[in-house]
Amino acid sequence: MRRHRKYIFVVGGVMSGVGKGIASSSIGKILQAKSFRVTALKIDPYINVDAGTMSPTEHGEVFVLDDGDETDQDMGNYERFLGISLSRINYMTTGRVYQAVIEKERNLEYRGKNVEVVPDIPLEVIRRIERAADTAKADVTVVEIGGTVGEYQNIIFVEAARMMKLKHSKDVAFVMVSYLPIPTKIGEMKTKPTQYAARALNSVGVQADIIVARSEKPLDEKRKEKIAIFCNIPAEHVISAPDVESVYDVPLNFEKDRLSEKLLKILDLPSRRKADMHEWASFVRKSKDGKKTVNIAVVGKYFDSGSFILSDVYISVLEAIKFSAYQLGLKPHLTYINSKDFSAKGGSASGEGKLKLSTLAKFDGVIVPGGFGEKGVEGVISAIKYVRQHKIPFLGLCYGMQLAVVEFARNVCRWRDAHTTEVAPRTGHPVIDIMPEQREHLAQNRFGATMRLGACPAILCKGSLAHRAYGAGKISERHRHRYEVHPEFIEDIEHHGLIFSGKSPDGRLCEIAELPEKIHPFFLGTQFHPEFKARPLSPHPLFTAFLAAAARKRTKR
Ligand code: GLN
Repeated sequence: MRRHRKYIFVVGGVMSGVGKGIASSSIGKILQAKSFRVTALKIDPYINVDAGTMSPTEHGEVFVLDDGDETDQDMGNYERFLGISLSRINYMTTGRVYQAVIEKERNLEYRGKNVEVVPDIPLEVIRRIERAADTAKADVTVVEIGGTVGEYQNIIFVEAARMMKLKHSKDVAFVMVSYLPIPTKIGEMKTKPTQYAARALNSVGVQADIIVARSEKPLDEKRKEKIAIFCNIPAEHVISAPDVESVYDVPLNFEKDRLSEKLLKILDLPSRRKADMHEWASFVRKSKDGKKTVNIAVVGKYFDSGSFILSDVYISVLEAIKFSAYQLGLKPHLTYINSKDFSAKGGSASGEGKLKLSTLAKFDGVIVPGGFGEKGVEGVISAIKYVRQHKIPFLGLCYGMQLAVVEFARNVCRWRDAHTTEVAPRTGHPVIDIMPEQREHLAQNRFGATMRLGACPAILCKGSLAHRAYGAGKISERHRHRYEVHPEFIEDIEHHGLIFSGKSPDGRLCEIAELPEKIHPFFLGTQFHPEFKARPLSPHPLFTAFLAAAARKRTKR
């Protein structure tokens, strides 16, 4: 381990889903605000080599990096909070670590040694953590270990962290993000689960330096003292982290408790100056100042998970909407609509549809995000037809763009059977079709990491909506799809009025489809996923242009 690099491991206590990713991102943010160079890593304890093969309702959003790695949504949080771009070395899973060790063993890189789970697996984990820190030349690397302490799955990663601490104790700090329930019948905040979690961590040789106490309400002094005594840390190292209105409040709240100063002390780093949270604080202020509401519908296919709504699946899209809305001084009001609730006919009579398409009329803008497969597709197509005909601002992302092309081909070009071959392999008008190399992958059952993935450049047509929004002729955006607009139909479709205003540099692949402004106030779809590059402090131009159109529609009412 290089002496000048410091590491903060963030582990979860009691239960998952209490904001470990946001806590990790916020810790990174407050140290960055003190002018330290910060990077972040996510460790997911599952066997999957990446998040790409998991179903959205199982895993939530798959966040795609510039280099095409298909990762966990927390990577999106790191990029958004820290304003940096990460790569595959910032992400690891159990599967990925084992795969690397096994490959090395096969290549005789262990030189005849007996390769063992301990220490060889943790050593590989450490090697990866250090490589990520070195690549970023990071002063501080925040490493989030997925799952909660006491689990069997993530123990090998905690072991790696312990080994790093053992070697250079001043370079490694442990933060446990725990949860303090307030059972309704008791009406009192309980610390016991946190005490058990701290002990579970102790039993694998790790002592938390900081405990971030997540709860519905702020922690009182009595609870702080109790946690301090039972968890073996100074009371001022217990940080109260009550529920907040917006996740972007968290870094500011941490600083109210002077968390950065405490972490720097633990890591033996100089506390150079007061954290400069100026820009961030002004963004947070703007996020609360918006007066004019815009009503945006997100028509997607992955909202249902039992009796719960899963907005997590589209988290980057939702955040991208917020950033642009805040920049424009708007207050976004989002409504999630499950596309299968629209019947293909637009009424409630047929199939699953229980929602009339005319409900879309009350929205100022409609977004159709990405997706896969047949489920809910006809509902999406009907919704797109409605917003096209009723001139409601529309932004289609990936599948949303492809289905907009299908809709246009069916209803404007009058190719009634037009479809994507993902759903209708034998259609006479495969306006969206699989590329030959992708066909090969599928034929061989090669599903993992084989889509068109990651950042690709595109050239924009002068004078187009897209060109004006970006204020540039060349862009780079992240992809994740197997199908493309079929080149054979491009000319005909354009002849009917849908313009492909963004193309790959060789002109072969369509990246953006749009209707001219004199026909529709804002109708644009992207083959890529702009949402992955939207940041709080630099909102995405396409989302901004879409929301500006939505706001104009609202004013006209
Ligand atoms: N299912 C489509 C494809 O694979 C779109 C994918 C997406 O929306 N990410 O091309």
